[in-house]
Amino acid sequence: MYLDSAATALKPQTVIDAEKKYLEQYSSNVGRGLYPLAETATEKFEAVREKIARFIGAADTQEIIFTSGTTASINLAAGLLAESVHPADNIVVTEMEHHSNYLPWKELAKKCGASFHVIPITGEGAIDIATLKNSIDERTKIAAFSAVSNVLGTINPVEKFVAAIKGINPQTLVLVDAAQAAPHMRIDVSLWRADFVAFSGHKMFGPTGVGVLYGKAALLETFPPIVFGGGMVFDACAEDTRYREIPYRFEAGTPNIGGVIALGAALDYIENIGFTNIRAYETALTAYAQKRLQETFDDAIRIIGPKDTKDRGGIIAFSLKNIHPHDIAQLLGEQNICVRAGEHCAAPLHRRFGLSATTRLSLSIYNSEEDIEKLITALKEIQKIFSVA
Ligand code: PMP
Repeated sequence: MYLDSAATALKPQTVIDAEKKYLEQYSSNVGRGLYPLAETATEKFEAVREKIARFIGAADTQEIIFTSGTTASINLAAGLLAESVHPADNIVVTEMEHHSNYLPWKELAKKCGASFHVIPITGEGAIDIATLKNSIDERTKIAAFSAVSNVLGTINPVEKFVAAIKGINPQTLVLVDAAQAAPHMRIDVSLWRADFVAFSGHKMFGPTGVGVLYGKAALLETFPPIVFGGGMVFDACAEDTRYREIPYRFEAGTPNIGGVIALGAALDYIENIGFTNIRAYETALTAYAQKRLQETFDDAIRIIGPKDTKDRGGIIAFSLKNIHPHDIAQLLGEQNICVRAGEHCAAPLHRRFGLSATTRLSLSIYNSEEDIEKLITALKEIQKIFSVA
């Protein structure tokens, strides 16, 4: 029983078939070959770029950079911005960030001598808009926050936050980590108005090793490439090098072609179900899980994050009195119930709540109320074992 979709989602058959078909029937490199097989691969690869642009409301395919995942996307954005950050500047993130949207900015601030500010979160695991506004000033170069927390499940009002940040300092560049939003709700970059948006294919039913960095075209145009090699250059010689147009100048080397093509199938899978249905189903299931866990374990359980299900995605991190999360996850694992235990790559967040670790279940459209009941039965057994011990 799989309750770890925030780590990576299970893959539908159509996604597996798309990758297999590429590998079996038209495996070749993209953007270079002039023979039909390579043309097919290139067409299919570029068709996914178009599909992604439509999927997230981007104005142009030029704004879609393929990467290996959210981590690579955020590091790429941080690399592109390295020259723009100066010692008097500050970089702002939030206390709920995954390490992937925390460490690249912390390191960038350190490298540039800029200051690094972490916006505190509330006891319910939300970002207070007044606190957010107080953290932005005329020296804020970059503000980075997640659309959905991978621990608390908190859904941040991205559009509102971006508008608030830009309202104080229109020059602040905003990056949204949409890793936990992309599989569950519509990303609309035309509404969000963030400068960068990062997400991973594998959390949205696609393969691992493929992700996206969306960047506003006018902004991307201002950056030279930072990774060099094949595929990103028109002409290279000792005197002069002419780099290709965006997004290709940021995609040096052979990309994960089969992965990108299979990600296209994953987007079709999501579109066929529809985000309205996905969100409605997952919200109802999350509410059910919250209610059942709370009423079953009462004072013994501590669920962190927003109480109101409409403010959270299908992620529930909790601690059970006197039982270490690793013991819970291991004993559940023995029954083939897959949950996570630990800090979930969010150490500052756990520190904020005075917890060294939590157990996390994360839901997707293939989960059911029956799964929640099985989990609760297993947790009750574990509680019994530890009350005797
Ligand atoms: N940000 C968030 C909010 C995440 O949940 C994750 C994955 N757990 C990442 C970034 C990193 O994603 P990836 O490992 O696919 O690069």
